[in-house]
Amino acid sequence: KKVLLSGIQPSGDLHLGNYLGAIKNWAELSEQFDCYWFMADLHTITVRQDPAELRRRTLTQIATYIACGLDPEKNTIFVQSHVHQHAELGWVLDCYTMFGELSRMTQFKDKSAKHADNINAGLFTYPCLMAADILLYQPDFVPVGEDQKQHVEICRDIANRFNHAHGEVFKVPQPYIPKAGARVMSLNQPDTKMSKSIPEGCVFLMEKPEDIMRKFKRAITDSDTERCVRFDREAKPGVSNLMNIYAAITGKSYEEIEREFEGKGYGAFKPVVGEAVVELLRPIREETQRLLSDKAYLEGVYRAGAEKASYVAEKTLRKVYKKVGFLAR
Ligand code: ATP
Ligand code: MG
Repeated sequence: KKVLLSGIQPSGDLHLGNYLGAIKNWAELSEQFDCYWFMADLHTITVRQDPAELRRRTLTQIATYIACGLDPEKNTIFVQSHVHQHAELGWVLDCYTMFGELSRMTQFKDKSAKHADNINAGLFTYPCLMAADILLYQPDFVPVGEDQKQHVEICRDIANRFNHAHGEVFKVPQPYIPKAGARVMSLNQPDTKMSKSIPEGCVFLMEKPEDIMRKFKRAITDSDTERCVRFDREAKPGVSNLMNIYAAITGKSYEEIEREFEGKGYGAFKPVVGEAVVELLRPIREETQRLLSDKAYLEGVYRAGAEKASYVAEKTLRKVYKKVGFLAR
């Protein structure tokens, strides 16, 4: 089986965009690939975190993955900080990455503009740790969104540079752009993507049905004159976003949705989308809550995951240490 790896930072609560754009497709992938899913907690502290909240979100994320259909028997689910090889390889790769190439990363530029009071070294070297996350497991594929493509590119550059200096140590991974995973936009700002770092306009997976309904009823729709449900990303980003969400959940085409709401206004459409989201998320929320009440089970999952991941990661790290000339213990 080919190997596939992906992580999400527990830097905020998971939302509808994370689900429809990523997690939803993962259960399927695990039939086809040997999958590693990790909670990228090391990465979160490039921005100040509340420690108790970070712990809560990390555990909730594990429970959510399982609730979304990732079977811990078939997938390796682990917490990044539990596998010390990530930080260790990260250091080595820091030394194989150039200041200039890190300076060109758009995410660094964005994040340092946003957190001008805390432009720390970790934020700058983030791509090296991310390269370590990936290369430790010698994956064939790394599923990423558009926004992470540059990071996979630099990971490939670092891997090639290391291999060139020391011989083939790393498999150079391919970005895996999942087929039409829905790109969900913010409900109150439909020209920006729904993102956990901008909680306004986000629909969280663990949110109560009445809160979800309220958010959908208040979703920004467009002030164009026709006020009908029609797909047009440019002219009608708000309605188009709702249509995209509705289509992703129901499997209906845009034409079908347009027909379904012909002659009806936005006021009729928005609660229907809200209902569809509520029903989509209900079983996920309930199962996540059930799992969170069984701490022993979750511990078992992430410990077994860390053990399996460490075993694989250690093999790569040993090769690297040997190649760079560290004395074997
Ligand atoms: P951050 O604001 O910290 O970047 P995020 O909400 O963008 O958080 P990520 O951790 O960057 O979430 O992304 C996790 C996964 O979810 C990635 O595969 C990403 O492509 C996907 N994803 C994130 N936001 C959306 C969205 N709005 N629509 C579709 N997919 C998304
Ligand atoms: Mg993001």
